[in-house]
Amino acid sequence: MEKIAIVTGGSRGIGRAIVVALARKGIKVIANYNKSEEKAKQVKAELEKENLQIDIFKADVSKREEVKEMVAYTIKKYGRIDILVNNAGINQEKLFQDITDEDWENVMNGNLYSAFCTTQEVVQFMINQKSGCIINISSIYGINGGSYAVAYSATKAGMDGMTKALAKELGPSNIRVNSIAPGCMNTDMNAYLTEEEWEEIKQETPLERIGEGVDIAKCVEWLVEDEFTTGQVISINGGLVIT
Ligand code: NAP
Repeated sequence: MEKIAIVTGGSRGIGRAIVVALARKGIKVIANYNKSEEKAKQVKAELEKENLQIDIFKADVSKREEVKEMVAYTIKKYGRIDILVNNAGINQEKLFQDITDEDWENVMNGNLYSAFCTTQEVVQFMINQKSGCIINISSIYGINGGSYAVAYSATKAGMDGMTKALAKELGPSNIRVNSIAPGCMNTDMNAYLTEEEWEEIKQETPLERIGEGVDIAKCVEWLVEDEFTTGQVISINGGLVIT
């Protein structure tokens, strides 16, 4: 049977690489975007050149009503959801003392509430199907913490906690829940880094390079195929963090 996947934040960066990889595996992908409509259209057009069809769907995944619409669209069109990748996220670089309540709320909503809300809307269908694969894209900052990124790190540790607890709750329904915690990746999220900073990160990384979206997409492909991994946080980081 054809598998159906929702990938949040599929317009660019890591999410885009995941959309492309899953579509190339013959999975029907609903690539979610929020602000980057042109980029989402570009992914769709590029895959069409390979005779692969994806759906793109605009929704701010930090808003319950918009998530509900995306899930309803998917169920109406395909009748099921097999894979959910909670990838959408925002960065926040701030000294701890400078974080306002509004900053805290924004990053909590953008990274953690969005994953909670999307998972909750999707999971009812997976429970009925008695199968599903949920992948949360967290971060090495959730494992190790990042200075100037206290709120961001808290959201990512929260995602990993959600992964582990939900894996226990949903295992009997044959739903696997895992996190992928990327290291430093070559995406817009890190566009603020200087050449020198990139070089330093490379030098600190045992595999001596910066990660690409495709490195994360390969792990997603594996988790989609696997049948006995759940509740795990898999860090793909070139050895930058070894726990
Ligand atoms: P990116 O290049 O900045 O892309 C972020 C993506 O998230 C965009 O597709 C964006 O969509 C989407 N997004 C953000 N808020 C959204 C919302 N409210 N609703 C829907 N979509 C939303 O970031 P990235 O590097 O690919 O990061 C992807 C994930 O990996 C994030 O969760 C990030 O925290 C995590 N991560 C990244 C790194 C890294 O070094 N880059 C490291 C560890 C973890 P629109 O542009 O369409 O709004």
